[in-house]
Amino acid sequence: NKHIIIKHAIDGLATESDFELRSAPLVLSVAHGSREVVVKNLFLSIDPYQLNRMKTCSSSQKTIAAAARIQPGQRIDAFGVGKVVVSGNEEFERDDVVAGLLAWEEYTVVRPGTTLTKVDPHEFPLSYHASILGTSGLTAYAGFYDICKPKKGEKVFVSAASGSVGNLVGQYAKLSGCYVVGCAGSKRKVDLLKEKLGFDDAFNYKEEPDLKSALRRYFPEGIDIYFDNVGSTMLDAAVANMNIFGRVAVCGAISEYADPGKRAAPDMIDVIYKRITLRGFLAVDHLHLYAGFLSATSDHLRHGRMRAVEDISTGLESVPSAFAGLFRGDNVGKKLVQLTSV
Ligand code: NDP
Repeated sequence: NKHIIIKHAIDGLATESDFELRSAPLVLSVAHGSREVVVKNLFLSIDPYQLNRMKTCSSSQKTIAAAARIQPGQRIDAFGVGKVVVSGNEEFERDDVVAGLLAWEEYTVVRPGTTLTKVDPHEFPLSYHASILGTSGLTAYAGFYDICKPKKGEKVFVSAASGSVGNLVGQYAKLSGCYVVGCAGSKRKVDLLKEKLGFDDAFNYKEEPDLKSALRRYFPEGIDIYFDNVGSTMLDAAVANMNIFGRVAVCGAISEYADPGKRAAPDMIDVIYKRITLRGFLAVDHLHLYAGFLSATSDHLRHGRMRAVEDISTGLESVPSAFAGLFRGDNVGKKLVQLTSV
């Protein structure tokens, strides 16, 4: 059973050489009554938050539970989609297609109590269950609707807007009748947002020497909602341009994951006088929204109101470069690794 491990804790940016592809004997059986399921992994999700789990434990990161840390040599759990090959659990049968917490490996033994759900293999491409209909979709949906509480006509700004979560936030915002501007790191990404995903406007933040004045240009009437995927100077610039009673969904801080020195706090006096709500959230706390999210998003897809943007590499050996690439901005849309043809 081939699997990916980290060779050592990673401080700073991840590079391909921090990882190793290893092999272990493949056991395709489960003990009677164990309720375990062996899944052949088809699509693996590649997510920026994993870098926080690979670091050495610094005092500022104590909130990431020790149990969630990925130790060198250990298998790396990750969301994905797969097919059941052996089941000791009456809820699953051989050949069921499932989505849930798998790992960066070919086959995963899923223990009882681990998130695993059956998915309909017919209506949408299987990869969608690891992207727009999976955790990225739920993150965008919960963050936008539950945390930002949008109203029609409000002005919404999204960072890392061509990424997995960001592009979906923009699409939900348009469906809610908002005015949406996204920022991304290349012309190709900016064109995608404006020409294919319905954003009202978009810009390349790397070409803007002064983020505060750039946002003032794109939002002459101010920002009502900022969906923050990147943190640091972009958060500071967005807060400086927010309207009173503005809301910030603090979803991610990717620019700080590899470089904690980049941390830049927004002007808190501005936060007070503008009565801004800054709220961090984790998608896992919003599982009660899952059924509504799945039904609404499937319906949007069915009727062509939303589209999935995926960036798929092939083969388990491509996981390290797919992961390191997130921090270089290589991916356009949801980064996935496909293990076998489906
Ligand atoms: P993306 O698909 O957006 O991939 C990462 C993108 O971030 C890159 O393509 C790049 O795009 C951008 N990026 C990388 N480095 C920087 C940087 N230094 N400054 C600005 N942008 C950068 O990832 P996801 O959509 O999966 O995740 C987006 C954010 O949401 C992450 O911070 C992630 O940790 C967080 N997240 C939070 C969850 C939660 O429950 N709170 C759940 C899932 C994700 P570009 O070319 O535009 O720079």
